[in-house]
Amino acid sequence: MKTTKRVAVVTGANRGIGFETCRQLARRGFNVVLAARDEAKGGPAAQRLREERLDVDFAPLDVTDDESVRRFAQGLEKTHGRVDVLVNNAGIMLDGKDGSGPDAASVLKAKVETLRRTMEVNVCGALRVTQALLTLMPRDGARIINVSSGMGQLSEMNGGWPAYRISKAALNALTRIFAEELKDTGIRVNSVCPGWVKTDMGGPNAERTPEKGAETIVWLATESSVPTGGFFRDQKPIEW
Ligand code: NAP
Repeated sequence: MKTTKRVAVVTGANRGIGFETCRQLARRGFNVVLAARDEAKGGPAAQRLREERLDVDFAPLDVTDDESVRRFAQGLEKTHGRVDVLVNNAGIMLDGKDGSGPDAASVLKAKVETLRRTMEVNVCGALRVTQALLTLMPRDGARIINVSSGMGQLSEMNGGWPAYRISKAALNALTRIFAEELKDTGIRVNSVCPGWVKTDMGGPNAERTPEKGAETIVWLATESSVPTGGFFRDQKPIEW
């Protein structure tokens, strides 16, 4: 039976910031769809949150796979009927991990293939999922939140990690384009930087907990006064 609650979808949510975002949105009363590409990880992750008495369902979704995205959207239409909040959280950082040696995080040694693979998840993934779910999003107040990074800020662009930086700058462009094209629909589209967060990606030296990392995502999903087409950290606008 379709839920009467508001529905939130979080991609790449079996661990890290995505998992914590599911927990916080469910605590705020959402029926959360925890989407993950690997059922063996996503199923138990959703089960963990259900054991906390939270309303969380698992659904398989590989954001790089057109067919997976199509099946996900079709399934969601049948099981939930609508999507009030979409958090495009799935992301990878391959720079320096692609076997190209100790300088691999430098643009001077970057592999084009690493950029291609990174863009496929971090940018094309968000585009695919957003397009597929738009018809399920109510026209008066739905939210799309793209989990970006300060590493994609052109105003503060430094060297290193070129594939990741380029992908997040491109994701921010996607935010602006969607926000502009949807501005008359009432659907708000924003980018967020969660800060440097202790996850598999952020590593053990990161400053923030996943709880803190999820905070501004949840704020963008729930706060009535948020605008559209912005980039936020700690609930404040930041430079592109
Ligand atoms: P994480 O722990 O590495 O989690 C990344 C998630 O993305 C995992 O669940 C992973 O699934 C999923 N994923 C990767 N490829 C996917 C695909 N093709 N389809 C579906 N899911 C996929 O990273 P995190 O730190 O939580 O990062 C979450 C988001 O925050 C990312 O967009 C990241 O760029 C952004 N961010 C993180 C930090 C930080 O300091 N941690 C800072 C700024 C921005 P698997 O388990 O199957 O690999």
